[in-house]
Amino acid sequence: MTLDGKLDNSFARELDGMYEFASAAAAPAPRLLVLNAALAGELGLDAEWLASPPGVDVLVGNAVPASAQPLAQAYSGHQFGGFSPRLGDGRALLLGELRDITGAPRDLHLKGSGRTTFSRGGDGYAALGPMLREYVIGEAMHALGIRTTRALAVIATGDQVARETMLPGAVLARVAASHLRVGTFQYASVHHGDAMVQRVADFAIARHYPQLAGSESRYLGLLAAVTQAQAELVAGWMLVGFIHGVMNTDNTTISGETIDYGPCAFMDRFDPATVFSSIDHGGRYAYGNQPTIVQWNLARLAETLLPLIDSDEVAAVELATNVIHSFVDRFNVAWLGGMRAKLGLINADSADSELVNDLFGLLHQQQLDFTQFFRSLSSFESPHGLEAWTERWMVRLRTEARDPSEVAAGMDLVNPIYVPRNHLVEEALSAASDADDLAPFHRLLAAVTQPFERRDGFDRYALPDLTAAAGYQTFCGT
Ligand code: AMP
Ligand code: MG
Repeated sequence: MTLDGKLDNSFARELDGMYEFASAAAAPAPRLLVLNAALAGELGLDAEWLASPPGVDVLVGNAVPASAQPLAQAYSGHQFGGFSPRLGDGRALLLGELRDITGAPRDLHLKGSGRTTFSRGGDGYAALGPMLREYVIGEAMHALGIRTTRALAVIATGDQVARETMLPGAVLARVAASHLRVGTFQYASVHHGDAMVQRVADFAIARHYPQLAGSESRYLGLLAAVTQAQAELVAGWMLVGFIHGVMNTDNTTISGETIDYGPCAFMDRFDPATVFSSIDHGGRYAYGNQPTIVQWNLARLAETLLPLIDSDEVAAVELATNVIHSFVDRFNVAWLGGMRAKLGLINADSADSELVNDLFGLLHQQQLDFTQFFRSLSSFESPHGLEAWTERWMVRLRTEARDPSEVAAGMDLVNPIYVPRNHLVEEALSAASDADDLAPFHRLLAAVTQPFERRDGFDRYALPDLTAAAGYQTFCGT
């Protein structure tokens, strides 16, 4: 089996002006470090072939499958609120589109594959650590049931890349429903105008929301569909204590998948102001700001769609504004629904939102570990300082009159034991990067890809960093 003839190029065919053809830099000594055999299976690809030298050459960009037309996508982006009209894939390539075994199109994309016309001052490369980080956190998200792009493989290139020190270079082969972003629409609007926005929107509808295709109000429908998908996504993040860290418009997908795991993290002690990126001084992308920020990003998408929504500008603004305002309800429904499940509740009660808000106030006050707290709830014991709240929750649980062991079992299916905690991720990445030892990485991957099932030998993966001094920052992971 090869990938020859298997990759479609619909993006290249339909969106001329939104990309530049490009080729990967040669990797001098490619070495496969991790392969996602389960994902390969979903894609109908032969994992054994992917792991063979010809497969690895494709995954690292040294060989281009017949009929593939690798390209760097163009996009703009609001980064920390400031607009950059021309970002684009500065160190990545879209190899092409595959059909997975369900028939759905999936982008096959390489990250860290060398310079493109969008590289600006960057070298086009990626260091091994951050690519392994994207792999393990993406797989953890997937196992938690949160939509995400996924890693197919990480390949060491054999080159060193210059960061603060010299580091081993790597290419991440990534799979996504698509790489369309809010920034893709911004680029189309700023550089080409409304006709291109319409082409991109039609492409996005065909790819992600085909049920809208025949509808007269399909562009408003697209905005509503992306708003819904993003509301569910961000609620999903927050229900597991996840902080994305770089919610720029170029990192906000049209599909509703999580993309670009840079300075992201799972929170340990609960604090809504938690920020992990060392460059996010204002706390713009803090845990508790994520809904507001994604709504702001969706408003940027709405601006590009206005001329397609209605030829009357006033009418278009009103229609789009209503959709953007609907984000709040959509998010609250997803959040509260998810919180009920975490608390073992099935029916909706009008006092639930107060019960949840009070809980988060107490978690903050008591500095409780997010993941451990929710997991331990199914023992129905109260942590110190939450006695009164626990009593209220028990009263509420009794209104549903369900068997406690059944309630507990259901809670354990949504409150994970194992999440990729910072210190575990750092430990795994340093061992791989500094000592060429992938054992800690594989062990962590084993823990977080079955996050709900307690297993022998994984106890330390359930615990916060007991040695940590206050505060943790990643250093922008690029
Ligand atoms: P990211 O932070 O990965 O979402 O990237 C933001 C932008 O910076 C994108 O346009 C990337 O292509 C670009 N970029 C990040 N790192 C590099 C690099 N080493 N070389 C070239 N471009 C880069
Ligand atoms: Mg990005």
